[in-house]
Amino acid sequence: MRIVPARDGGLCRIRLTGGEMSAAQARVVADVAKTCGSGVIDATNRSNLQIRSVRPDAEDALISRLIEAGLGPATQDADDLRNLMLSPLAGLDPHAIVDVTPIARVLLEQMQHDARLRELSPKFAIMLDGGERLAMLDHPHDVWFSALSAHRFAFGLGGCPPTSAEHLPAAASVESVHVPDLMNAVLHTFLDLALPEQTRMRDLLQTYSAEAVLDRVQQKLDFQLKQDTKDWRRPSSNAQLRFGVHPRRNEGAVCIGAQIPLGRLDATTLRALAEIAPRMRMTPWQSVMLLDVPVADAASSIDRLKALDLATTPNEPFARLIACTGSQGCAKGFSDTKADAHRLASLMPETGNVHLSGCARSCAAAHHVDTTLLAVAPGRYDLYTQASEPVARRITIEEAARWLARSTTDA
Ligand code: SF4
Repeated sequence: MRIVPARDGGLCRIRLTGGEMSAAQARVVADVAKTCGSGVIDATNRSNLQIRSVRPDAEDALISRLIEAGLGPATQDADDLRNLMLSPLAGLDPHAIVDVTPIARVLLEQMQHDARLRELSPKFAIMLDGGERLAMLDHPHDVWFSALSAHRFAFGLGGCPPTSAEHLPAAASVESVHVPDLMNAVLHTFLDLALPEQTRMRDLLQTYSAEAVLDRVQQKLDFQLKQDTKDWRRPSSNAQLRFGVHPRRNEGAVCIGAQIPLGRLDATTLRALAEIAPRMRMTPWQSVMLLDVPVADAASSIDRLKALDLATTPNEPFARLIACTGSQGCAKGFSDTKADAHRLASLMPETGNVHLSGCARSCAAAHHVDTTLLAVAPGRYDLYTQASEPVARRITIEEAARWLARSTTDA
């Protein structure tokens, strides 16, 4: 684990396996955020957490506490090899095709113990999808696996599981038992072929066709990949399932999802979440899914989440607003997107979602959002919808709110 510099001090990324931590681990995160930093904790769109404003004299203490709490990597220097995205309901959704958590454990162990994989970019990302009804299917991954049945997975290189004919089809399929060996072969083939400047799978696919990469992968395997996925499509996910109460496989307990306003928590709120449920998962929507809540406590838990100002239904303004770190914490930001988004929240019409981005890198939204406000100066934004050209330029938050209200009325 390491601390990287940011405009508001040191930044410590905590990679959570499957986005999950126990209540005890959450309390440790809250404690170190407060004692070693400013108490501000960001939920990321990779289902991880970031502790902000870590003081230089507290860096070692913070990392030691996190490792002691079981939040570090399996081996030293393997922290970057934990970018494995699962559904927030992996292993819990009664409608999923398969529980992928056992395979996920194997993949994570395997990656972290393979010294050569340290050559991969820290951003190199893998997705393992069990067919849950709630899954982030818009984030491009370098490699993805998606369940076809309880014993077989489709997989693809660069992109996401296809949900329509417009998407790239899966590359091939593989038996579940062979997923770890296949992933190993794909990652080593990538390192064999990629030039130093080609850090992601999409870069390699500019030079080699997917078929050529697959041929090289096949040479490393002692089983045959099946070319039977050309017409396969992954059923759509329902992102609104990240809100509210959901039954889970085990009767007697439910999961409860809520949106963290603008993906930012304070230590007090995280401690309070740890009082509601014995474990929780962060989601790629920068929200939280509380697990193992007794059925009898569901209604009171929703009330407690509301009291913490988390959004528990999809129509609330903070359920429809995202903002990147912005100029308070990021040197690239042209405006304080979080503060601007707070202003916009009180002016939002009743429908539509909005993304405020401090610059064109668009860190907060890898998925589709109806309206994007791209900062060009403090408090000033260009407004984009589907088009690549802005439909309004250098507007204020209040002007953006009026534009949103008009577009809602016209629709
Ligand atoms: S989108 Fe730009 S301003 Fe916002 S966090 Fe990313 S790099 Fe920083």
